Amino acid sequence: MEYICFQCKKNVDPEQVDKRIRCPFCGSKIILKKITNIERKVKAL
Ligand SMILES: [Zn+2]
Repeated sequence: MEYICFQCKKNVDPEQVDKRIRCPFCGSKIILKKITNIERKVKAL
């Protein structure tokens, strides 16, 4: 399972999510599971 940050759209290491649910890059606490629909959205942007 991969995760992506809702704010900065960077891939987040699952281990980081296990320890603390926040993005290591921007500190956002909103982490999304990376699924096909999300990938399509990101590409569209
Ligand atoms: Zn982030």
